[in-house]
Amino acid sequence: MKASRFSYARPSSLDEALALMADEAAEPMALAGGQSLMPMMNFRVARPGVLVDLNRIDGLSGIETTDTGVRIGAMTRYSDLAASDVVADKLPLVAAALPHIAHAAIRNRGTIGGSLALADPAAELPAVALALGATLHLVSQSGTRDVAADDFFLGAYDTALDDCELIAAVTFPGAGQGDRSGFHEIVRRHGDYAMAGVVVATTGGTPRVAFFAVGDGAMRHPPAEDALGPDLSGIDAAVATLADLDVAGDLNGDEATKRHLAGVALRRAVAEALA
Ligand code: FAD
Repeated sequence: MKASRFSYARPSSLDEALALMADEAAEPMALAGGQSLMPMMNFRVARPGVLVDLNRIDGLSGIETTDTGVRIGAMTRYSDLAASDVVADKLPLVAAALPHIAHAAIRNRGTIGGSLALADPAAELPAVALALGATLHLVSQSGTRDVAADDFFLGAYDTALDDCELIAAVTFPGAGQGDRSGFHEIVRRHGDYAMAGVVVATTGGTPRVAFFAVGDGAMRHPPAEDALGPDLSGIDAAVATLADLDVAGDLNGDEATKRHLAGVALRRAVAEALA
């Protein structure tokens, strides 16, 4: 199948891109790495009127350390994150997740902004953003706003982004001394989307647990966080709380399977965090 008819715009500034995004009648969609959007267009799941290519805009990519953590431009590619010493040093969870995202060719083009905007329920980075308490920096012609990851992800392929908005960047709080973290995903074949996965982080002694590929989007599970406790010692009680986890079956397994895999992933991620 081929994409339906669309126009293509290649703005060279953010202002130009935002003006294109503001023209609702033209039905614009942002193009980042194209690793999800192009297949979606070819399957006609997405039918933009205008494709607004973000690839030639200066200032949308890059990794910098700030007072509040590590700020990453939306157009920063997975391969740039994987090569970054700052990410390796200050964001071990991001570094741990990256090799699990698809294959090298896709990681050379795919962007962090594209992953967060798409909010695929099986994607790794939305769960990492939730577990670390990241902040998304959104921009439109009306101005800018910061949205906590907790308020950004609304469900499967659903976020707090307005149609005219772009993600400009995301800030992850850097890991503090004594913070622990663990990442685990269960997958049939390396590089495939996960069957179930979880990210565990303690930030300033507060545990956060975010699952992916088990339900209707990346999601935290506060009962498991409470049961784990600041020292992550309550793993049996935490796994017991998964009886209430809001799971959804998919091609990889029914609800009971997903719940079981979520528990296995949680045990392994916590063991990694404690190691
Ligand atoms: P695009 O495909 O260009 O865009 C995706 C969506 O985000 C579009 O709706 C677009 O309009 C919107 N968008 C993009 N950037 C912005 C922005 N700055 N502001 C607002 N909206 C924006 N992903 C995983 O997480 N894990 C996997 O295991 C995985 N496996 C894959 C396997 C295959 C074979 C393929 C083809 C893809 C896989 N992916 C996987 C998806 C991949 O990570 C994509 O790169 C990612 O989901 C989208 O990033 P992108 O930069 O390519 O965005």
